[in-house]
Amino acid sequence: MGTRKAFRASVAHCLDDPFSAGSNVLEYIEDALLVLNDGVVEALGDAQTLLDDERFSDLAVTDYRQYLIVPGFIDTHLHYPQTDIIASHGKQLLEWLEKYTFPAEKQFGDESHALESAAFFIKELLRNGTTSGMIFASVHPQSVDALFTVAEQFNVRVGTGKVMMDRNCPEELQDTAVQGYEDSQRLIDRWHGTGRLSYAVTPRFAPTSTDEQLRLAGKLYADNAGVYVQSHVAENKAEVAWVAELFPWSKSYLDVYDHYGLLGERAIYAHCIHLGDADLIRMRDTGTVAAFCPTSNLFLGSGLFDLHSARAAGVRTGMATDVGGGTSFSMLRTADEAYKVAQMSGNPVSPTQLFYEMTLGGARALSMQQYVGNFEVGKEADFSVMDLAATALLERRVGVANTFEEKLFAFIVLGDDRCTRATYLMGQQAFAADS
Ligand SMILES: [Zn+2]
Repeated sequence: MGTRKAFRASVAHCLDDPFSAGSNVLEYIEDALLVLNDGVVEALGDAQTLLDDERFSDLAVTDYRQYLIVPGFIDTHLHYPQTDIIASHGKQLLEWLEKYTFPAEKQFGDESHALESAAFFIKELLRNGTTSGMIFASVHPQSVDALFTVAEQFNVRVGTGKVMMDRNCPEELQDTAVQGYEDSQRLIDRWHGTGRLSYAVTPRFAPTSTDEQLRLAGKLYADNAGVYVQSHVAENKAEVAWVAELFPWSKSYLDVYDHYGLLGERAIYAHCIHLGDADLIRMRDTGTVAAFCPTSNLFLGSGLFDLHSARAAGVRTGMATDVGGGTSFSMLRTADEAYKVAQMSGNPVSPTQLFYEMTLGGARALSMQQYVGNFEVGKEADFSVMDLAATALLERRVGVANTFEEKLFAFIVLGDDRCTRATYLMGQQAFAADS
């Protein structure tokens, strides 16, 4: 018998995909007991029923009855070296990279700066109730060591990788095709599969890699079982035109990655705004994931991702903050913006669909659903304790809601990091609001 403990609270989670299975996949238990054994879920059910069960009679119960426990949020795309340039004014993608991103990322060759930034970044995720993510580091291998070191200390389930970038960027940030390949392989050997850590092969985007570098990135993905690919595609119209110039043989931007074997079930592409129907079909057929980054897409003036069309085409999707192009670490703020972007297309997203994209949908997008995403028995207990009375307005709005789905929607639209009372990783408290 391992270490058992239990939490008493309201609990909500998704059991399946509401886009295909309908909104009855949302399970809400008003007075629930969540029982953990060695950091994984042993039972979830009505509190009184479980407490009357002799199997659970001697449990230490943490009482969170005025709060809502939700699965840890899953952020499918963001950049830890861009924490300090969040909320930088006035540029679209290509100028944004030149003016803000590259100067910020130059500092991540300094190990102490990387470690300090990584620690702030992971704490900020936990403060916002996010427990898993697919994260860009910088071009420097030590930036990956720093993030994995901190992630391992916190025991957070994340993926990251060294940016591969051998042209069209400042010289100090350039690797070479061979150096980028060798550094990536060394990092995979050192970190991939250690505890809850995964490696992601990370070409920044097609314009900053030569054909040879993309070929070697594809080789890393093919040669190392279980590693991910993360990159960007079709974010901005000037970027799309530039890719067509740089790769004149390509049928489309996505086709560049396809040509080098960089699509697939563990490949996560941020943005996917300016794609054609043939690209969506290719993403569906390869299982490639589109990361929807609404705050970033709006903030950088990139465009509106069409979630409805992507889902209708059978493309796997996840939601993402894309910090620092995105404007918040909060998946609540992100889901609120996602809702508004969907409204612009005339295809509203339901509260349950938004909640799914932040939790189980994100886990499925990152192929982590066997570990996290909801409270199925046997899953790792990553969760947050949320206060739906954290602000006067939210408390008032929730107070007049008639259904849980209505409360959930108010939480998404009005909530932020002030709602997070505590965040737990495998049953261990990793963040508390008042400590
Ligand atoms: Zn990004």
